Amino acid sequence: MNKNKIYNLNNPNGPSYSCHITYSSFSESSLAILNLDNFIFENHIIKASFGTTKYYSNFLYGNNCNNKDCLYLHYFSDVKDIILLIKMILIIIKQYLKINILKQLN
Ligand SMILES: [Zn+2]
Repeated sequence: MNKNKIYNLNNPNGPSYSCHITYSSFSESSLAILNLDNFIFENHIIKASFGTTKYYSNFLYGNNCNNKDCLYLHYFSDVKDIILLIKMILIIIKQYLKINILKQLN
């Protein structure tokens, strides 16, 4: 859990924190998300979703990684699971505009 970055500090229900969990398979992570998303724990709602990861940069140049705790990818992912950075930026801009246009309409 990352307690260095606090979200919604002024929320009357208390602040939010984030954590990242890496599973060994797509099915494990899917089951975890299905079971955890919107789960209530001690009066707090747990939100779960898929995240993103990056390739270990030296892997792309054919080098090995010696960090046993490394969280970056060391194998080529399925093409359907890859999202380009520019596409992510466009999705974020679209969400930002959608939220702010709705705010102006209300
Ligand atoms: Zn690595």
